[in-house]
Order: sequence, then structure tokens, then C-alpha cells
Amino acid sequence: PRAHPTLRVRPLTCTEARRGDQQVVHSLGDGAVHVSAARHDATFGFSAVFDAGASQEAVFEGSGMRQLVELAIDGFSCTVFAFGQTGSGKTYTLMGPLAQSETQPASPALLGLMQRSFTCLLEQSRSRGSDLALSASYLEIYNEQVRDLLSPGPPCALPLRWSKTRGFYVEKQLSVEFESLEAIVSLLLQVSPPAGSQRRRTSAHALNRHSSRSHALLTIHVRSRACCGPWGRGGGGQSITPNVALQASACPSKQGTLCFVDLAGSERVKETGSSGELSVEANSINRSLLALGHCISLLAKPRGKRTHIPYRDSKLTRLLARSLGGSGITLMVACISPSSRCLSETLSTLHYASRARRVTTRP
Ligand code: ADP
Ligand code: MG
Repeated sequence: PRAHPTLRVRPLTCTEARRGDQQVVHSLGDGAVHVSAARHDATFGFSAVFDAGASQEAVFEGSGMRQLVELAIDGFSCTVFAFGQTGSGKTYTLMGPLAQSETQPASPALLGLMQRSFTCLLEQSRSRGSDLALSASYLEIYNEQVRDLLSPGPPCALPLRWSKTRGFYVEKQLSVEFESLEAIVSLLLQVSPPAGSQRRRTSAHALNRHSSRSHALLTIHVRSRACCGPWGRGGGGQSITPNVALQASACPSKQGTLCFVDLAGSERVKETGSSGELSVEANSINRSLLALGHCISLLAKPRGKRTHIPYRDSKLTRLLARSLGGSGITLMVACISPSSRCLSETLSTLHYASRARRVTTRP
């Protein structure tokens, strides 16, 4: 299967509308989107395009997210990543506006891909008689350091290692089991703005006050305990002794993952007026996005013509190696603003996304 690049064009914000910004992006239907401005006139193709009027539910149902959740239950490594410039709607698409507003809980209609996927997983779990064990881990990559967002106390960098059996993995990464939507959502709120104990890196700069300066990776581990034999239901595994081997061989458990990646903004340094510490941040963000783009364009070559894929070029590409490379299934959601002021970033996001269209994997 291919990576499925999906495009979401957010509505003009109040500020953009008040200022009288021109809309330069138009959806033509059938996955085509047209950009027209003074010296630009281009059409791009996607698996699906969601324009300003598309609801959160429409994005969940129309992007293939539900199928991705089902594949994770079946034991595949599934990844959805949202990318685009700061303020283009990445966090909105993944989590909804809930992360932006101080106190009011978001209306259920506005919940993002994450909450909808959790609901879907928990429904499946319930209908299978709790035979799915769900746990979550939450990492950020900030200035090329991997940090565990779930560990209490000040953030500390964790080593990223490689082994033959596991591929790249983060040592001492915490994971938390959950059995309800409230539990996993409160976990998200703990580490995402605006909760008091927010840990994810955000800095104010010219484009967006809450712009994220880190890549955030939430991974849901889906372990299927389902078993046809008499030991299947409810048994956690620990209490069963001599039959463990038999049980395992009779009905192997499946372990899938569903990873949500909220990439840091893709804008170039000069456009955000960044300097000092901010430009160090911007440079490492750009470096890892560049590395990701590089891996993606190499993966897009026909199998026979592929050279070595430089996953080791950044922490981000190491962590995403499995889902990008061979055995994973990836859903990419490119996010753009329709405003003429964002034109150059919009074009670069569109080019980046259309390259990914040619990546194929063998899950
Ligand atoms: P990013 O995470 O890419 O920096 P955000 O998700 O924070 O961007 O979105 C920027 C602003 O635009 C927020 O105020 C958000 O509520 C709003 N927004 C983004 N996408 C949509 C959408 N599809 N519908 C309505 N508002 C949106
Ligand atoms: Mg964001």
C-alpha cells in the first residue's frame, strides 16, 4: 500500500478574514486542489481533500483513519502524521480545539482524530470482551533530544537505541495503560497546552502564540489478548504457568501500534522573525523535517532503484523508520491555510505531500 496523503485546508481565521486576505486555495473535488495567485497556478492531487467546510467527523471517516485503527488492532504499525506550517491546523486536526481553550470542554463534534480513534479502539475492546490491552506512551523531540512527556519532574533526554529485533526504540520510555476515554484524554491534557502542568515546548513568535516547537509522538500500543482456547479470556498471562508456551503457540497475541505525530511547524526561520534560542529550535526543526522529506523522497523511488535510506539523519526519522520504511502503514495529513499570505509555505507543504504519495510499503 501507499502512504495516503490527505490534505486539509482550514478556514480563514478571523484575523485573516478581517484583514481581507485572499483565498488562494480551492478544492476542485476528486482529491484535486488548485492554487492560484499572481504568479502561481498549480494543481495537486491527494487521496482526499478536506476544505474549510469539512467537519472533524468527515475528516475521521474520509481519511481512512478508522481503517488505520482496525489495522493497528490487527497488529500493524500505523502512523498518522500532521504537518504544515505553524497555525495551519495540525493540532486542531489531531486533537480539536480543546487544547487551545482554557476551561470549557470541547464540544464532542470538535474532537479530533485522536479522541475519535481512542473511542473506536475502546469500542472494539469492549465488544471483544476486554481482550485488547491498550497503553500509551508520549514523547517529544525537542532540539534533537527525545523526552518522555509522561515522566514526572523536569524533562530529561532519553537515549534512542537500535536493536535487531526491535529496530529503533527509546530506552526507559514510560507507558501507561488505559481503559477509558477519560483516562487517555486526561493524559493528553496533562501534557498539552493549556493545562497547568503543560510540558510540551511552545514559544510565542510572530506566527502563532501557541506554536509548537517540538515534534510530539503519542503512541498507542494495542495488544490483543484474544484467544480461541480456554485460557484466553481475562487471563493477564502472569498467573498461568505451564500452559503459557502452549497458549502462545496456539494463538499468538498480536501487537500493533497507532502513532499520532504532531510535527513542529515547517515554516522557515526568516518568516517567523526567530532569533537566538528560537532560531536554534527552528534550525533543528527544519533539519528533522528535511531529513524526513529526504527519506520520503528516497522511499518514493521504485524499489529496484532505491539506495540506502538515511533514517539515522535525525531522531524523528529514526523513530518513524518502522512506519515509513517497510512494515508500516502511514496516513499523512498535510495542513494548509487558504490565505494568500501563506502562499509560499502552502506550496512547499503541497510539494512535500505530493512526494509522499509515491511511497509504498509492505506491511
Ligand atoms: P498548528 O497546530 O498547525 O500550529 P492549530 O491547530 O493550532 O495550528 O490551528 C491554528 C488556529 O486555527 C487555531 O485557532 C485553530 O482553532 C484554528 N483552526 C485550525 N483548523 C481549523 C478548522 N478546520 N476549523 C476551524 N478552526 C481551525
Ligand atoms: Mg500545533
